[in-house]
Amino acid sequence: MTATASEAAEAAEAVPAAAHFRFFEFEVLRTRRLGHSFLRVTFGGESLKDFRSGGFDQSLSLFLPPEGQEHTVLPSTDEDSWFGAWRGMPDEERPVMRSYTVREQRRAAEGADADELDIDFVLHGDTSPASRWAGRAVTGRRIMAIGPAVAENKSVRFQPPATADAIWMYADETALPAAAAILERLPDGTAVRAWFEVPHEDDRLALSAPAGAEITWIVSEGDGREQVLSALRSDESSASAAEAPYVWLAGEAGTVRATRRHFVQERSVDRRSVRFTGYWRLGASEEQLLAEAYAGKAPSEDPTSDL
Ligand SMILES: Cc1cc2nc3c(=O)[nH]c(=O)nc-3n(C[C@H](O)[C@H](O)[C@H](O)COP(=O)(O)OP(=O)(O)OC[C@H]3O[C@@H](n4cnc5c(N)ncnc54)[C@H](O)[C@@H]3O)c2cc1C
Repeated sequence: MTATASEAAEAAEAVPAAAHFRFFEFEVLRTRRLGHSFLRVTFGGESLKDFRSGGFDQSLSLFLPPEGQEHTVLPSTDEDSWFGAWRGMPDEERPVMRSYTVREQRRAAEGADADELDIDFVLHGDTSPASRWAGRAVTGRRIMAIGPAVAENKSVRFQPPATADAIWMYADETALPAAAAILERLPDGTAVRAWFEVPHEDDRLALSAPAGAEITWIVSEGDGREQVLSALRSDESSASAAEAPYVWLAGEAGTVRATRRHFVQERSVDRRSVRFTGYWRLGASEEQLLAEAYAGKAPSEDPTSDL
């Protein structure tokens, strides 16, 4: 029970890992526009007291109600049987499963009236289920989620080794919430070189990062892969002089693949030091990615074969 399509398929069969993950019910408390493309949805709910975000790029799976329904209803939240019950629902009634990032979890003791959790949704149109749901979210709407019950869980992918002498990052807008959460947890003194691709000038959000972090914003319209590669190739920053960088890449799968190739082939980074995740794929919904993963032919997050 983890975040990405391939992992969801894997998890359905490996439910013992469920000890680390469980179902939660979230209720929308409020929404706030952060930039041209970003909407922050703040959730509350009694079950949040058992939610244990591991921070950094902690992800979770949301179950959003189909069009016409206000709240998410699942036939089962039993660890052994939910997946089959959910897949067996008629298409028009089945909640849509989507992967998102915990931007921040706040405990009541940390200044919130009750436990709260923020998710930053990219609004990319009204025809895709998650983007549409977020764009219409109003206070009181309830959804279901599978999330961490323990802070150390495998949906925190950012795991730099102690030997890393710099953090290099690429994120598109869907991975900017994760990148922002990573940056604000890095200790001062960490050498950071980051490239963030967003669709609009106003999406260059204010970030809290270690002093001296070198961040390049790439404002792209549509497929910005070439713009990203060009920015990577013309890099002359001091942080790029690192000898043992840890590289974290996340965003559109094809661009992630291209950036990984750049770091491994053109900059000779040890491929074991590169953590990369396709957060979405141009032209494919998450159902399609899940179906491919289930059929065992997912392009997967490990495009090693392309190298
Ligand atoms: C681990 C993980 C963490 C993630 N965290 C976040 C997060 O915090 N915030 C966030 O916004 N997204 C996040 N994503 C990405 C998000 O899950 C996808 O963008 C998802 O496809 C959105 O679902 P949808 O129903 O809106 O679109 P879908 O129904 O899945 O896709 C419909 C169409 O829209 C296209 N599409 C999907 N996303 C985008 C986009 N952003 N821009 C343009 N076209 C798109 C698809 O290629 C497809 O053609 C994360 C993904 C993963 C795997």
